[in-house]
Parts: sequence; structure tokens; C-alpha cells
Amino acid sequence: MPLVNEMTSAMQDLVVSGDADQLGWRWGAHGIFSVASFYDSLVEKYNLIQSELVSFAPLVIWELSIPLKIRIFLWCVCWGRLQTLDRLKKFQLVDDVRCVWCKRGVESVQHLFFQCPVIYDVWRRLSGRKWGEVLMLLDTNDLTGLVKNWPHVSSDLLGKNLWRFVPAAVVWSI
Ligand SMILES: [Zn+2]
Repeated sequence: MPLVNEMTSAMQDLVVSGDADQLGWRWGAHGIFSVASFYDSLVEKYNLIQSELVSFAPLVIWELSIPLKIRIFLWCVCWGRLQTLDRLKKFQLVDDVRCVWCKRGVESVQHLFFQCPVIYDVWRRLSGRKWGEVLMLLDTNDLTGLVKNWPHVSSDLLGKNLWRFVPAAVVWSI
């Protein structure tokens, strides 16, 4: 009963006209949907600060001018949705979970991009630094941090603009 009273109270200020009902997007100008208005409504709803959203690595991925399929792939990696052998084993789709590159570690996102000696040699050669130094500069051990902090590693070898694409190119190639 309190709910009915609350609803009745909320409706007291409504003015009902004889016009036909219409659907409208309440957050958009003139009731029209747009992605920007949807984004703004989410930010407002969840009280997210703009700077926090911009620094959120998966959003950084969407800002890169790379093919859509690579963006989606990186997005899946960042959210832990890559079908690595450790995940496939949970569904009993594979028996052997050894990394295809080094044949020693268990193939997981963490191993593939940060712990596999074959792959960190790739990162080391690209950056011109020891892997430990790269990790310190990245201040992370996950792909989200890698994408976000990669520009801090160095851009001397390729130039700033091209350097931003390196993580995407490497992760896609792995
Ligand atoms: Zn490995």
C-alpha cells in the first residue's frame, strides 16, 4: 500500500493531454537518442568523474585508430575474456595447458603477456630496456595497465604516435 501511495503522489503533478503517447529518450535533446547522451547519463548515474573514465584503459583502446577486430580483441583481453588454455581447461575443452611459446608455464593472460620468457623478450627488444625496467615504468602487471602506461616506457625508437600502437600490435600478434 505505501508503494501505491508513493506512485499516486508522484503522479499528482502530471498533466495528461489528449495527444497520442510517444516514445522518447529522456536524456537526449528533444527526446532523441544519441550515444553521447547515453554516455552522459551513465556518467551521471554512476557518479563517475570524467578523468577516471579517460584513464580507464579499455576506453583508451577505443581511442586508438586500429581495426575494430583488434579493438574487440584487446577489450576481451582487458576484461579477462581471452580463451587461453587455462580457461579452456576449465570447460574440459583441452588437456594440455602448457604455453604454446615456451612450453613451460600454464597459458593464461598473465603468462602470455607478462611472464612468458619468449614474449617478454619481444617487449624487451621493442622497448630497448630490460623487462624489469619496463615493468617498473609500466607500474603494472596486467594488460589494462600496460595499454594505459605504455606511452611512459619510451617513444624514442618509433616516435610518439606510432609508439602508442605497439601494445595493440604485439598483443594481436601473440
Ligand atoms: Zn610461455
